[in-house]
Amino acid sequence: MKNREFTFTMIKPTAIRFGKLVPILDEINHAGFAVIAMKMTRLSKAQAEKFYAIHKERPFFEELVSFMSSGPVLAAVLQKENAVQEFRKLIGNTNPQSAEEGTIRKKFAISIQENAIHGSDSDQNALIETNFFFNQFEIFSNNESFL
Ligand code: ATP
Ligand code: MG
Repeated sequence: MKNREFTFTMIKPTAIRFGKLVPILDEINHAGFAVIAMKMTRLSKAQAEKFYAIHKERPFFEELVSFMSSGPVLAAVLQKENAVQEFRKLIGNTNPQSAEEGTIRKKFAISIQENAIHGSDSDQNALIETNFFFNQFEIFSNNESFL
């Protein structure tokens, strides 16, 4: 296995509110991802705007920012071979109505916006998003700094 292939994920507020945090972590565990770092936190509106800045011209941006700052999120860095692509497969299509059977969004999303979970879409964004949530002392694997 190629070393240090990782992705960033965030379990979104409604999934946590409706008691889906542990079931979703169970899916991630069963799919063979190792947890490198994990924290539960809550985004301010300004932090949510920054995290989703790429979408700021989209019509759903304001609603997305309100939703993402409406309650706690669980942020985590996950390791697996080909992590970014494998994790996007595990979570499924953005819209749960189009999400493939067996995917996390098919099982746990309630709408295209409140779609349970985020997954980085590239290695570059996995690194940017990890650094958004975690500092260098929080990212360890086998007693070594991971990134
Ligand atoms: P994420 O980045 O959260 O992993 P994604 O990459 O599948 O999701 P993006 O296109 O990056 O999808 O959209 C970011 C988030 O914005 C979506 O996960 C969803 O919460 C919200 N979103 C996307 N499209 C819509 C829409 N048409 N209406 C409402 N919310 C949307
Ligand atoms: Mg995205």
